[in-house]
Amino acid sequence: MDFDDTPDQGRLRAHVRQFLIEHDSELAHGDGAYLEEPGTDRVDALRRTQAALFDAGLVGLTWPEAYGGGGGTNAQQAVVNEELHRARIAGLVGHVGLGMCGPTVLRHGSEDQKQRYIRRLLRADDLWCQLFSEPGSGSDLAALRTKAVRHDDGWHVEGQKVWTTLAQHCRYGILLARTDPDAPKHRGLTMFVIDMESPGVTVRPLRQMNGHHSFNEVFLDDVVIADSERLGDVDDGWRVALTTLMNERMAVGGGGGELGIRSDVLVAHAAKRLPELSDDRRTLAVQALGRVLVESLAARYTGYRLQTTMEKGGHPGPEASAGKLTAVRVAHATADLGQRLLGADAVAARSREGDWRWATSQASSPGIALAGGTDEILRNILGERVLGLPPDRIPARPADPSESR
Ligand SMILES: Cc1cc2nc3c(=O)[nH]c(=O)nc-3n(C[C@H](O)[C@H](O)[C@H](O)COP(=O)(O)OP(=O)(O)OC[C@H]3O[C@@H](n4cnc5c(N)ncnc54)[C@H](O)[C@@H]3O)c2cc1C
Repeated sequence: MDFDDTPDQGRLRAHVRQFLIEHDSELAHGDGAYLEEPGTDRVDALRRTQAALFDAGLVGLTWPEAYGGGGGTNAQQAVVNEELHRARIAGLVGHVGLGMCGPTVLRHGSEDQKQRYIRRLLRADDLWCQLFSEPGSGSDLAALRTKAVRHDDGWHVEGQKVWTTLAQHCRYGILLARTDPDAPKHRGLTMFVIDMESPGVTVRPLRQMNGHHSFNEVFLDDVVIADSERLGDVDDGWRVALTTLMNERMAVGGGGGELGIRSDVLVAHAAKRLPELSDDRRTLAVQALGRVLVESLAARYTGYRLQTTMEKGGHPGPEASAGKLTAVRVAHATADLGQRLLGADAVAARSREGDWRWATSQASSPGIALAGGTDEILRNILGERVLGLPPDRIPARPADPSESR
């Protein structure tokens, strides 16, 4: 693997860097993807940022040109992502649409759906959410109970979703619902695009332990969805959901550990605090800093491996699960460093350093380990598919280990 830029990539990098310098004051900044409370003002600023980046050709580089994308390569998008991270531009607010919903519409949607939705999704004109998890189904996603029943005027949906990221700001979502209650649980599911402004949709934000309301409960009370908003065939929703889940892991694990703070910024913060510590505590803090840097490198190289697989036309398999696990390790190691440097103050609201909030880092890292497939589920996948260990035994589990969340 060659980590150096090709001449073309070097030119792209220089172009992006220059654009970000010239437009710095128009773009929203922030160190960690999970560190900002997604209030309406902040979401509006982030939407303007994504629109400006899209208009400059920096969002959706790999997406088909027919729908507003750049028709480029994963390596080009990786160069752009690195430069955005370097310039400390905040994570894209449309990340659920870009990472999960959009790829699912592209793969399984009708031409009409692609024409109507994709460009607006890339530009954050519409935000999208993912309505999969329910109170009784997370890791065992196929146990979900929200049902859709076909009538003359469309599908009538009844049920409840939960942990729906950014739903309070979204215009559309992809919704997995049960359409045949008598079929085995992985069959009898169907995927739809849902208009979150439809009558019968109620969104209630949930407060997390980091103090944010970034995800929600969503109640669906006789919501009508036209059959033309189906994604894929009736009762074939599990196959469609696998597209979403694979892309979700890539979105989290393929970024090379860039969920969090830039390493050199973190080192600068640590260097400021280290002289205040006793010798013993300083030694432990330096070790913790070393762990963050090593985990970050591991995450970055795991991300490169995933991008290389994609670049060669391959499909991400266990690499995506490994990538997500390494990204989570970076988040945990960073939170641990905060405790080493600040002691009990690391959990106090005032514990900030520039844009970086130590307390939010502490309170957000456990959630990162759950979202998009928990550590245990991802380790099961790696154990089975890479190490060839016997399959996990849970009732009515699908034969293919990739077919769990
Ligand atoms: C920050 C955040 C954002 C999220 N955003 C969304 C979203 O936008 N849309 C959406 O649909 N969902 C979202 N989720 C939900 C997420 O997908 C679920 O939390 C996740 O799939 C786990 O499901 P659960 O919470 O029901 O836990 P459970 O599945 O009940 O698991 C509980 C514990 O048991 C363990 N466990 C379960 N099964 C096994 C097994 N077979 N082997 C070993 N251990 C096992 C798990 O690892 C976990 O530790 C989000 C979650 C978080 C934290």
